[in-house]
Amino acid sequence: MQTPSPALPAADERLNWLSSIPFFAVHLMCLFVFAVGAKPVDVAVCVGLYVVRMWGITAGFHRYFSHRAFKTGRVFQFILAFVGSMSAQKGVLWWAAHHRHHHRYSDQAEDIHSPLQKGFWWSHAGWILSDKYNDTRMEGIKDFARFPELVWLNRFHLVPSVLLAVALYFIGGFSMLVWGFFVSTTLLWHGTFTINSLSHIFGKRRYKTTDTSRNNWLLALLTLGEGWHNNHHFHQNTANQGWFWWEVDLSYYSLKVLSWFKVVEGLRLPSEATKFAFQKYTDEERAALAAPTRFWGASGARAQFVATKAAGDAARAASDAAKAAGDKVREALTTAADHLPTSAPPPSAMLKRR
Ligand SMILES: [Zn+2]
Ligand SMILES: [Zn+2]
Repeated sequence: MQTPSPALPAADERLNWLSSIPFFAVHLMCLFVFAVGAKPVDVAVCVGLYVVRMWGITAGFHRYFSHRAFKTGRVFQFILAFVGSMSAQKGVLWWAAHHRHHHRYSDQAEDIHSPLQKGFWWSHAGWILSDKYNDTRMEGIKDFARFPELVWLNRFHLVPSVLLAVALYFIGGFSMLVWGFFVSTTLLWHGTFTINSLSHIFGKRRYKTTDTSRNNWLLALLTLGEGWHNNHHFHQNTANQGWFWWEVDLSYYSLKVLSWFKVVEGLRLPSEATKFAFQKYTDEERAALAAPTRFWGASGARAQFVATKAAGDAARAASDAAKAAGDKVREALTTAADHLPTSAPPPSAMLKRR
């Protein structure tokens, strides 16, 4: 028998089969591709809606609503919320408030979707299919909860995605509904979920963060830039998550273009000190960051996390010891100075004599 990791799920952490029916139904509807075939126009709509809605999630739900990484007016703010809501990932306030909570407690016991704490499946989809996080954490999103239109959209969050599905059916028939809504939405869900699961498991860790976040170019391509997740966990409030020219970040490029037209403004960027912070790391810290993660089950990842943390603690202890040694030397010098013969006149007196 496999060891349950790390404890058996509590009642509210079990999959709620009844409320999860829509989730599984959307997946099953994808099987109709075998019946309707793959018309180029349907596949193009599928890809197009994946990109547009992923953008609504990354630029809108994530960078704007969760992290306030740039500024915009009330109309474009609503457009961002609406496009993001078309991806059927619950309400905008729900999404952003839970995401802020994830950053506050990432990979700690309170984290809502940590693969380290509760394994891969939980971090990927289990956490949204249980009853544990149904409610919007309003206390965590007061800044946007003062807009009634956002509160309305958060409450009726299915409206945009249902409207989209209906429109696709009337425009392109059943085949466009299957490809443009069901296949596209399923891909979109799992694309988004990889950031909570795979981005904390596969990839490189450039920065010391208190979690297991990683930079992964493939996930960054699939999620329009969100795969630079270690950068993001190191400094959350930047409009770009790819910080170097080779870190492709399509969401940021789009925001940059929108800023030329003054649709958005005040894009926040990382300082040079933040970007190059890794240059100051010790060899031990680098080695700890480079260690691979064993990802099946939470225990491998946790062992690595403990190792990274231990290296950090050791470095801190060494610097404390050095500081203590310095303090001792200073103390010894002061004591020695107190015991110096007092026969010689103080320097000030010598100065006066001249
Ligand atoms: Zn994360
Ligand atoms: Zn974030």
